[in-house]
Amino acid sequence: MEDEAYIPSPESLITTSELLEAIDLMGIGLIITNPHLKDNPVIYVNKGFTKVTGYQPEEIMMCNCRCLQGPDTNPEDLKIIKKAQIERKAETVTLKNYRKDGSHFWNQLTISPVFDQAGELMYFIGLQLDMTKEIEERENSSRRIRQLAFFDPLTGLLNMSKFKEELEKELQKGQHCALLRINIDRFRYINESYGEQIGDSLLLEAAERMKRMLGKDCLICRSFADDFIVMLKLTDSSRYEIHTYAMLLSEALRKPYFIHNEEIRSNFSMGISLYPEHGETASLLLNYADLALEQSKLDGIGEPYWFKHSLLEQIHKRIQIEKKMPKALGSGEFELYFQPKGSSSKTPSLVGIEVLLRWNDPEQGLISPMDFIPIAEENGFIIPLGEWIIKEACRLIKQWQDEGYPKIPVSVNVSAVQFRHPHFINVVENALEISGLDPCYLELEVTETMLNDPVVIKEKLERLRNKGIKISIDDFGTGYSSIHYLKTLPIDILKIDKSFIQETPVSEQDSTLLQSIIQLGKSFGLTVLAEGVESQSQLEFLAGSGCDLIQGYYFSRPLNRESMEQMLKTYK
Ligand code: C2E
Ligand code: CA
Ligand code: CA
Repeated sequence: MEDEAYIPSPESLITTSELLEAIDLMGIGLIITNPHLKDNPVIYVNKGFTKVTGYQPEEIMMCNCRCLQGPDTNPEDLKIIKKAQIERKAETVTLKNYRKDGSHFWNQLTISPVFDQAGELMYFIGLQLDMTKEIEERENSSRRIRQLAFFDPLTGLLNMSKFKEELEKELQKGQHCALLRINIDRFRYINESYGEQIGDSLLLEAAERMKRMLGKDCLICRSFADDFIVMLKLTDSSRYEIHTYAMLLSEALRKPYFIHNEEIRSNFSMGISLYPEHGETASLLLNYADLALEQSKLDGIGEPYWFKHSLLEQIHKRIQIEKKMPKALGSGEFELYFQPKGSSSKTPSLVGIEVLLRWNDPEQGLISPMDFIPIAEENGFIIPLGEWIIKEACRLIKQWQDEGYPKIPVSVNVSAVQFRHPHFINVVENALEISGLDPCYLELEVTETMLNDPVVIKEKLERLRNKGIKISIDDFGTGYSSIHYLKTLPIDILKIDKSFIQETPVSEQDSTLLQSIIQLGKSFGLTVLAEGVESQSQLEFLAGSGCDLIQGYYFSRPLNRESMEQMLKTYK
């Protein structure tokens, strides 16, 4: 039984009409063409063909299948089909074809030649499989992958790696361009006070404003967080034109943002580098624009900052300073200088001293505090340095008092970073305790910019003041100058910034302004001191305007210890 061949019964065999019906009903399209007739026309299609293409058999019969092709059909695939027909071979391609209604579909077409018993070509059979769904899904996911790989998911702008790639292509073509690196000032503050969702909406709106203003020819990128980069292609634009354009962009970005019923205002800083003037490579130009951006933040005047090569020297100098600072403290290179404060009478008398720091560097000579204090603030070195200054100042003043010099208050400058440090009060207490100096002789000079966090600041100031220490506001008029804090914070002395004194009394406007600041201070019951007094006429004007104290080159320049002691002696 097992060895016997299986012979089907006649009833179990398929008939020709059943076969044709099965072919008709199969889910895929089938076409038969006759290569012996002119233009290889269609001589049979099944129902599957009509389902896929929308053409009825009579509409395609005796026609060539090329009516399914359209403008996007890949000619390379058509060549493969042609070649297979010539060589009488089977082949499979996936073509973008068009239905009768004009919509497209992806046709996975397999053509096979059919030969008779003698090996002569009779027909070509084509099988059509509609792959539209599969191919489009694949395309969508690769588009999504591309989107993630090249674009920022939040704003849809280019991401950094794609931006750099595109920038490199433009540079290779020799395209002159400007790179604008744009950053939102204090964005962290926006995120913290309004929440990240509002922060994101602000970034999105900023990106939209850039897109609207810049047009298609520019590349725009969000490199990270609140950092945007724009590449402007230049033809023969001058720096003036680029600057004006950059200012207009800043202005558009600065307009208030209305998000979830909140009106948010934000400032933007901008750094600019140019190709080919500043550098040849994308990395260099991006770095240079970044350095310029940093500088624009430091400037704080809200104007775009242009990269210049001297910035690199400044950075080099800065790195040197940063490296040398810790050692300098250990080896006694820092020194206290003293600037006397006087009464605002015709012949001022010594009423106080401000301690000013100096750095005697063995290689560079005297380095100005303006050059190293901001660095020390940034890298945290101001904490040990500031502690040394307070201790040293208290020690020396007490020593002078013990030696019989007149007992006058001494003021010490306190930087924001130092003041915010949780141990600041302990440091001050410690310095007073070790030296034995009565707190009523210690004055701390803080700046207005420190006062933007009134709750914490107020408590700290009150605790210091309760010990008998006096508080001065330094550089008054250059920071927030909010009348509110004058009213609410425990302050004793207002030090009017020297920029208000410089043009007085020559400039009528400055003189009036100065007088109103003096009156403002007096109305809050504060002692008012004018800084940077350099002439007799300034002194007279200030005395006449009710200013209590003066400080400046006219009375005395900052003095070293020896000269200060000389001056103190005359008051003994
Ligand atoms: P400041 O606290 O406003 O100090 C006054 C600055 O003005 C001093 O510069 C002083 O030399 C200068 N000055 C005084 N009288 C005149 C004048 O009549 N005309 C002009 N044009 N300038 C005058 P200095 O010593 O270079 O200090 C600069 C800044 O560095 C200080 O400004 C202060 O912000 C900071 N600084 C200095 N010493 C210390 C310190 O011990 N700690 C901290 N945190 N900062 C300090
Ligand atoms: Ca000061
Ligand atoms: Ca000052």
